[in-house]
Amino acid sequence: MKKIIYFLTITFLLTACKNEVKKEVATTPYKIPLYAWMQLSKDATDEDLKIEFQDLKNKGIDGLMYSAGHDPSVYKRVGKIVKQVGMEFHTWIPTMVQRTNPKLKPEWYAINGKGESAFDKPAYVSSYQFLCPNKEEVYNFLENLYSSIAEIEEVDGVHLDYIRFPDVILAEGLWEKYDLVMDKEYPQFDYCYCDKCVHDFKESSGIDIKNVEDPSQIEGWKQFRYDLITKMVNRLADVVHDKNKVINAAVFPGPNSIAKKLVRQEWDKWNLDAFYPMNYNDFYLGDTKWIGKLTKEEVSTISNKKPIYSGLFICPKPENKSKEDDPENHGLLPEELEAAISESMKNGATGICLFTPNRMTDAHWKVLEEVIHTEYIKE
Ligand SMILES: [Zn+2]
Repeated sequence: MKKIIYFLTITFLLTACKNEVKKEVATTPYKIPLYAWMQLSKDATDEDLKIEFQDLKNKGIDGLMYSAGHDPSVYKRVGKIVKQVGMEFHTWIPTMVQRTNPKLKPEWYAINGKGESAFDKPAYVSSYQFLCPNKEEVYNFLENLYSSIAEIEEVDGVHLDYIRFPDVILAEGLWEKYDLVMDKEYPQFDYCYCDKCVHDFKESSGIDIKNVEDPSQIEGWKQFRYDLITKMVNRLADVVHDKNKVINAAVFPGPNSIAKKLVRQEWDKWNLDAFYPMNYNDFYLGDTKWIGKLTKEEVSTISNKKPIYSGLFICPKPENKSKEDDPENHGLLPEELEAAISESMKNGATGICLFTPNRMTDAHWKVLEEVIHTEYIKE
């Protein structure tokens, strides 16, 4: 008898627990999954970071794509605090762009169509030091870098950025800033013409690309370079997956309408766990409807198989936007943010990623708070 009572008590307890769990699930309101790109602020103490992260968590941020250089110990320190407040921790580390580093030889950097190296004569800006993705030494460097980071217990995922070639065509919103009209591909922005790339393409296609008057007309040469980036990503994905961590990337919008054409990212072929397209409408002279159109392309191109987090570029000083010449200071105004989020979600995005929380004004946060529990119906 005792046994039966005991058994009944256990059953009752289990049922009670089950009901409680159910109740809790039913009362938790839906929330739009929300990520943010962030950088370690100089001299921030652990206490400063904890206050900052707790504030972001309270505002609805679920995870950070966090940039803090290459040192694993820094990610361990920051990651611990991010995890304490209950957010996901993804390490945001550029891939093909690597500044001068004793571990990297100058001859591993990419060469443009004029024979100039991105090591000492980079395109556009001095930071555009792109490596050649066709060199085993470059892969080895990146493999070591990302595996040392993926090994850290506090790291949930590795977030690739600059996983591409330099912009052979610059987004139209940036032409004025750099005083360029990029109506076609120009050799000084076209990479990589190093001996190995030229040799390998000749081997596979029979074409000596250096003897072609307009290489942009050779579809196979484009594909060769899409494939170099795809191969690099998929090898790195294996490395990170072997450590039981996720891997994702910040990508250009598209991929067909923009990412392939501008930076040679055929990202629908990448074996990643999620994509964070930088749907930065102002760079493409688009409005919030443009964000919806691109999100639709992104979701449908990967056949809805992986999550798409729509990257939104926030205007840090809304009152100055109309007078501001530098497109880097443009972005979504508070009154555009609701439309940018609804366009993303209605067109199939899994969530949103903000560039960046530090650019969000009080007015932006207020809009976010009002819409964060809205369940947008997919169109
Ligand atoms: Zn090369």
